[in-house]
Amino acid sequence: MEKIQMTTPLVEMDGDEMTRILWQFIKDELIYPFIDLKSEYYDLGLVHRNETDDQVTFDAAYATKKYGVAVKCATITPNAARVTEYNLKEMWKSPNGTIRAILDGTVFRAPIVVKGIEPCVKNWKKPITIARHAYGDVYKSVEIKAPGAGKAELVFTGEDGQVIRETIHQFDGPGVIQGQHNVNRSIESFARSCFNYALDTKQTLWFATKDTISKKYDHTFKDIFQEIFDAEYKEKFDEAGIEYFYTLIDDAVARVMKSEGGYIWACKNYDGDVMSDMISSAFGSLAMMTSVLVSPDGKYEYEAAHGTVMRHYYKHLAGEETSTNSVATIFAWSGALRKRGELDGNTALMDFADKLEKATIQTIEAGKMTKDLALITTLKDPVVLNSENFIQAIRETLEGMLV
Ligand code: NAP
Ligand code: MG
Repeated sequence: MEKIQMTTPLVEMDGDEMTRILWQFIKDELIYPFIDLKSEYYDLGLVHRNETDDQVTFDAAYATKKYGVAVKCATITPNAARVTEYNLKEMWKSPNGTIRAILDGTVFRAPIVVKGIEPCVKNWKKPITIARHAYGDVYKSVEIKAPGAGKAELVFTGEDGQVIRETIHQFDGPGVIQGQHNVNRSIESFARSCFNYALDTKQTLWFATKDTISKKYDHTFKDIFQEIFDAEYKEKFDEAGIEYFYTLIDDAVARVMKSEGGYIWACKNYDGDVMSDMISSAFGSLAMMTSVLVSPDGKYEYEAAHGTVMRHYYKHLAGEETSTNSVATIFAWSGALRKRGELDGNTALMDFADKLEKATIQTIEAGKMTKDLALITTLKDPVVLNSENFIQAIRETLEGMLV
């Protein structure tokens, strides 16, 4: 069989631990045999990040800006223990944080829905994609523990000398105070990324805040979304047959539970943090969550939502067999290949991406899966495969589909 040709390189970011092992298996079994892979390779493994003083992470992000599509392996975000373990020069920042800051993007997380891995919420039939605004609010707040009676004030001092002052509270005893902020530019980028991704995936977009209580802060989020939608997206949404739907956050939560899924739910930073964990666990498994970073100007970086699966890696190093789920990492590859195909008008590449996903799902639905899924499946007598054999089983299914 002739290999599929590519015109523009994919930005490939390698990573750490067990996912780095899976990365190589996936390329060897599911990519190289079928595609003449054109990739610009960046090794974001912690050893190489340390060697390059983290420059490699910046280079990979700029390459993504240049080419438009990247696929990323999970990477270690160093903490004190990792600094010792890897003898690091510094506690390097989270690669995802660095890449997100450079691309100014929004992260969309969606579960991979498979028969036999049933969501806890029985009416959920289609995936629910969560978009989390990743700037500001409580994550960039400043806090004070008021030691005793006194007055707390909110003061804005403009560069032009204008002063705006509000009393927060007149304390008659100890208490706590918090100052949060956000910036219109970031909210606008978030809105555009969400509208673009909704059009891209032909899904209705939900957005919710608490604007009835927070009449300036949350209301600004609501207004910015509505203004951008009306000015730039309304017609395109009508043409695509999708909707933009705004409601209060508590109403949204209630509706999500009763829905059948199949939409994007845009969340403020805190809501997205909390709700994405709820959605992923209710859909079955973190190992089945995909993640894509989308910038407001249409650059895409695909990855799995889970980490480097450290515990499995140490078993692997000790020579023990592992059964690590590679599905979300495979879908990161298929997502990136499909998008590359779309941008380049390469239908062979898009078609391959579809088949790779179908083959992965069919393999699981045929009862062949990794241990994490075998523990939760409703299928009878699943066959538990090790990390490598699972990927080989997908290859067999894929080869059957391609002949
Ligand atoms: P993790 O890699 O997400 O794994 C946590 C646990 O979840 C695993 O021990 C495993 O449970 C289960 N699990 C997750 N993915 C799985 C898969 N594909 N197949 C089977 N089971 C899976 O989190 P972690 O081990 O706490 O973190 C390891 C490293 O990942 C950290 O250094 C962190 O900085 C990094 N991280 C990176 C990213 C990213 O690059 N996007 C995201 C999150 C974390 P059992 O052990 O019970 O089998
Ligand atoms: Mg969280």
